[in-house]
Amino acid sequence: MPAERGVTVGVLYPDLLNIYADRGNLLFLRRRCEWRGIPFRLLGVGLGESLEPDAIDLVYIGGGQDRDQELCAEDLALLKRESLEEIASRDIPLLAVCGGYQLLGSGYETDHGTLPGAGIADLSTTRANGPRLVGPCAVQTDLGGPTNGLLAGFENHAGRTRLGESASALGRVVSGHGNNGSDGTEGYRSGNIVGTYLHGPLLPKNWWFADWLLARCLGIDIEELAELDDRLERAAHSEALRAAKVAQ
Ligand code: GLN
Repeated sequence: MPAERGVTVGVLYPDLLNIYADRGNLLFLRRRCEWRGIPFRLLGVGLGESLEPDAIDLVYIGGGQDRDQELCAEDLALLKRESLEEIASRDIPLLAVCGGYQLLGSGYETDHGTLPGAGIADLSTTRANGPRLVGPCAVQTDLGGPTNGLLAGFENHAGRTRLGESASALGRVVSGHGNNGSDGTEGYRSGNIVGTYLHGPLLPKNWWFADWLLARCLGIDIEELAELDDRLERAAHSEALRAAKVAQ
């Protein structure tokens, strides 16, 4: 049974891409596995190290400021690209947040030049000189679940991401700015490959989405995961929706 094998999360650049409590996403995944008796392991993959698709069940890439992205973009595009392409083609779950999300596409254009991307998602990002897109955010996805697919979080980015013709958004902006503040899209999803601007951290505010990812890692239906007492998690989600001024 896959649950016995457990979940190994390959965390790219854990020291560089980790802001706005993004590490809380990993802690949350760990707890939800441990509470269910599912073995959980983190495998940090830093600069110069190789990412082995066979060794991991989920790839996690956190957020980072431009400065942090500058330090790892080339390594990602040169050293990790092939593995990430394999991960995408095998539909191994991947979650990338903000700065990490921006680096999934063709590149991130800033005033200092263009940072290369991994090129596994049809999207591109430009740093705007306009205001940063900051604040609570709510996004309507088509993932169903106990909130009917509604995700809540917080965003803080200068970059504007545009999805290419072949790309689909993670969802529609209900409140906040999303990918670029103008076209109403938020994030990117292709099967199990997900990119989003939602920090906050994302998963503790959206417990069901953490389970969605875990079920996909384990290759099981979400209903097969043991139920947990999610009263606190539901309250955290409601609070995040309230912050985003979404009526409940
Ligand atoms: N450096 C990127 C931007 O400002 C991403 C920031 C982040 O990860 N919050 O657009």
